Amino acid sequence: MSLIVQKFGGSSVANAERLYNAASRVIETYRQGNSVVVVVSAQGDTTDELIEKAREINPNPSKREMDMLLSTGEQISIALLAMAIEKEGYPVISLTGYQAGITSDSNYGNAKIKNIDTERVFRELDRKNIVVVAGFQAWNKFEDITTLGRGGSDTTAVALAAALKADLCEIYTDVDGVYTADPRIVKNASKLPDISYDEMLELASLGAIVLHNRSVEMAKKYNVNLVVRSSFTRDPGTIVKEVGSVEKMLVRGVTRDSNIARVAVIGLEDKPGVAFKLFSLLAKENINVDLIIQSIGRDDTKDISFTIAKSNLDKTLEILNKNLDFVGAKEVKYSDKYSKVSVVGAGIMNNAGVAAKMFEALYEVGINIHMITTSEIKISVLVDIQDAEMAVNAVHEKFKLDQVRG
Ligand code: ADP
Ligand code: ASP
Ligand code: MG
Repeated sequence: MSLIVQKFGGSSVANAERLYNAASRVIETYRQGNSVVVVVSAQGDTTDELIEKAREINPNPSKREMDMLLSTGEQISIALLAMAIEKEGYPVISLTGYQAGITSDSNYGNAKIKNIDTERVFRELDRKNIVVVAGFQAWNKFEDITTLGRGGSDTTAVALAAALKADLCEIYTDVDGVYTADPRIVKNASKLPDISYDEMLELASLGAIVLHNRSVEMAKKYNVNLVVRSSFTRDPGTIVKEVGSVEKMLVRGVTRDSNIARVAVIGLEDKPGVAFKLFSLLAKENINVDLIIQSIGRDDTKDISFTIAKSNLDKTLEILNKNLDFVGAKEVKYSDKYSKVSVVGAGIMNNAGVAAKMFEALYEVGINIHMITTSEIKISVLVDIQDAEMAVNAVHEKFKLDQVRG
């Protein structure tokens, strides 16, 4: 007998038929003699619709009230899935994040799970119940509901799997597994039979929304057996594990992230300490900076441009405009019309040619690169947002990722 955590994403529980389908996969696992904990997301586009509803009332709601609202989507799903399982005659109980003992910090809207008190879940499992837990939500020291950031139900599932010491964590979604690129953008993307935690973490952090990046971080930390598979087919899916078997592969995948903005700080003094002043202001507010370019100094001034998550744009502009004198800058400009396109692969660090090949692919389709950054296992470039899909396709083709075999 094993303890298995199964997570069903929004599209896998979008309507009655799909709820029954999810219920039948849960029941199948339970009937094989396993203890089953199920994590569900809000149905279909519910979370987006709730965000829209909030906007109609107040374009600038507090994060606390936003979390109160957004967490309701998952509460609907857990009750409905439990009812579908009940209808088939199996013992089941639904639990909110709070009831499942999931606590987080107080960063509303993007909270981090701090602890899971597993007592209640284990008690229900001991009673032979199938336990259905609301994804994406937790509660904090103020006894408020928090949410874990968009896509956060994956993290609920992996965190529960780690805390319960589950034998397996299955992420059921609307694709057969992890592909070499988003199959919605690249028609001939290949499914990867397995991928390492590190590569998956990069893909997820660079725009492959198939797994929430914090779920991968957590899976690596606690060595969770993780698999991504389809709710609708019997495909075995993609195993995410310590080391991928296709180690020869230079590049594993290509991603696009359009959720970014570029900020340019103009007319900085060309002297030591300026970058330090600028970026420590942002670090203090927990704003992560990604690609950075500093221009060559002229007339004793220089410019620094960098990218941030789009959701941090307003805050960044506010901080910088308030501190123009402090950092010694003339003005701040910004644009959110860019995308970051990246290649990821553990083989990149030992191969000088990867960057050149990526740039060649972009040159061949006439795409201009605005910024570049590299690390041991990834290369990212900033391109115009309308070029991003073409860029992903061109790079995918250049590295012949349509020909990956398991
Ligand atoms: P869920 O609602 O099940 O959590 P998501 O929409 O969050 O599903 O994630 C699944 C989607 O991720 C797929 O429909 C696919 O378009 C997208 N995706 C992006 N990059 C990849 C990739 N490399 N492999 C597979 N899917 C990807
Ligand atoms: N419902 C949440 C969202 O849409 C969490 C999730 O789907 O994982 O972001
Ligand atoms: Mg998701």
